[in-house]
Amino acid sequence: ADGEGKVLRMLMFGKPGAGKGTLSSRLVKKYDILSFSTGDLLRQHIAEKTEVGRMAEEIVATGGLIPDDVMLKVVTSKLDALHNKHWILDGFPRTAGQGKLLDQHLHARDTPLSLVVNIDVADEIILGRISDRWIHLPSGRVYNLSYNPPKVSGLDDETGEPLTKRPDDNPETFARRLQTYYAATSPLLSHYAAQPSNITQLVSLAGATSDEIWPQLENVLNSAFPGLSQRQETRE
Ligand code: ATP
Ligand code: MG
Repeated sequence: ADGEGKVLRMLMFGKPGAGKGTLSSRLVKKYDILSFSTGDLLRQHIAEKTEVGRMAEEIVATGGLIPDDVMLKVVTSKLDALHNKHWILDGFPRTAGQGKLLDQHLHARDTPLSLVVNIDVADEIILGRISDRWIHLPSGRVYNLSYNPPKVSGLDDETGEPLTKRPDDNPETFARRLQTYYAATSPLLSHYAAQPSNITQLVSLAGATSDEIWPQLENVLNSAFPGLSQRQETRE
């Protein structure tokens, strides 16, 4: 993260199922950026039956939020590993309290957020596609049977390992997650809108699919962060 221009310290913000994970992994694949998703992290804790995982399992499965103090423990060590790099957080912060903790953490290191991207997709569109969603749990890679299917049915493209369905990707739990989003998470947008835009820029990108949002997202990054370099082509 040296050379020209500003360092990318970005939140991938948006409703559940908006495509945050899909867009983050596209960015990480193409550019020299690190990212992590608290949802992926929690699903790994749950799969490994760690202490955090055992307490989180039911909350995640029913569309609630893990308490802020637990999230902080999960996230802190990860945040420190991002220092001095270009990075993206996906799924954190999700409450005003988490937002405050993140601000404090970054302020203490003099590394404020530089970009908040709100991925804006209509509720009906998201609802229509979550039942088609499958994931590769260890990597967090996301597939959609209608518009982004795996090369071999039921298997991850890169590892060949089996895909799984998230227990919270059903219409009932999705309704709860969306409610939680409106009540606890969306108020963070006005917090970021109130920041000086030369320090923390807030952008909303709308579209019906990640393919529609992707070129807009690349435009924002390329114009605001000209120092971002593309990864050397290693595969494909
Ligand atoms: P998508 O991954 O499709 O964008 P999402 O944002 O609902 O949807 P994840 O980010 O994967 O899904 O999170 C899944 C679940 O993990 C949440 O519903 C919540 O229970 C828990 N979770 C994830 N991040 C947090 C957080 N920052 N605070 C509290 N709970 C969290
Ligand atoms: Mg996600």
